[in-house]
Amino acid sequence: MKVFNFGAGPAQLPPPVMQQAQAEFLDWHGTGISVIEMSHRSPSFADIIDQSEHDLSELLSLPEHYQILFLQGGATHMMSMVPLNFLSRGQSADYLHTGNWSGKAINEGRRLAAVNVVASSKADEFMRIPPPSQWQLDPGAGYFYYCDNETISGVEFQDVPDAATAPLVSDMTSNFLSREFDITRFACVFAGAQKNIGPAGLTVAIIRKDCIGSSDRTLPLLYDFKTHADTRSLSNTPATFSWYMAGLTFRWILQQGGLAAMHSNALARSALLYDCIDSDDFYSSPVDRAYRSRMNIPFVLADDSLDKVFLQQAAEAGLLALKGHRSVGGMRASLYNGMPLEGVATLVEFMRDFSRRKG
Ligand code: PMP
Repeated sequence: MKVFNFGAGPAQLPPPVMQQAQAEFLDWHGTGISVIEMSHRSPSFADIIDQSEHDLSELLSLPEHYQILFLQGGATHMMSMVPLNFLSRGQSADYLHTGNWSGKAINEGRRLAAVNVVASSKADEFMRIPPPSQWQLDPGAGYFYYCDNETISGVEFQDVPDAATAPLVSDMTSNFLSREFDITRFACVFAGAQKNIGPAGLTVAIIRKDCIGSSDRTLPLLYDFKTHADTRSLSNTPATFSWYMAGLTFRWILQQGGLAAMHSNALARSALLYDCIDSDDFYSSPVDRAYRSRMNIPFVLADDSLDKVFLQQAAEAGLLALKGHRSVGGMRASLYNGMPLEGVATLVEFMRDFSRRKG
């Protein structure tokens, strides 16, 4: 039986990437050793670094004045690194509160700096994004922070917000590389790898070079963007295997036609599932249509006493990890780059059949 993994992350990776990693696992390119046994300072790993940087730069049409960092510590670590690196003492930052992950960033930001929450959709249970007309921007803010796709509630920005005046910082952990965007609008974009890029343990950060080393604070070595920029992310041992696999994914995306192809795949996948949810009263999506995510799709059953049996029968049909986040309940299907359309078609077929039998 074919299995499809709808987990929010670590998530299903593109099958060809997994197959290539498997084929090369014991002997990388005739070296006789595995990538996981290779020095991060060896010529072989230097090739992996060069290729991955080259391919990611091509995917993003990245200009020279941006630096790619391959970091550890997860996206959560960036929630500390951003205020520490972007703000000098006494400076404040703007944050938009649209869900759990921007909420975490706000909490962490408050430990390190003055935070101005420009608007919050908490009262709407994060089912929409507050319109820019309601944002209370601080003209002195050192940056404007937002989360491009809230993984738990399933709300996604449809475009890069243009209301903010301060340099833009975005957490794109759960929708990075799933559509084209203009990187030059940003001072910093970051993403934990374990959704659209590769295995956990790696965080990709793209930072405008003039923002590196600009704070007047003395930072712990590994919290300083400059440490990583100066050493090409080799200050200490990086997450070599995750980095290598991210490189395979970048290559695969390029071969598929780049970010435009990822976007049209994402639209096709999410439309299929939203159509199923919207066309059957047995299912519903709580999220405002204008902000629905292409990546994470929460939905509920008309009768929540059937949740358990839904999840059980889905798992028996090879449709895994559909349980909604514990804070929201119901179901959630995560449809990242690695999810083939066939996976969503199989899920939709199962949902229609389940509704016929139980609805
Ligand atoms: N931001 C978003 C949008 C996320 O979805 C997640 C993880 N689910 C995080 C941040 C935290 O990532 P990590 O576990 O890599 O710290």
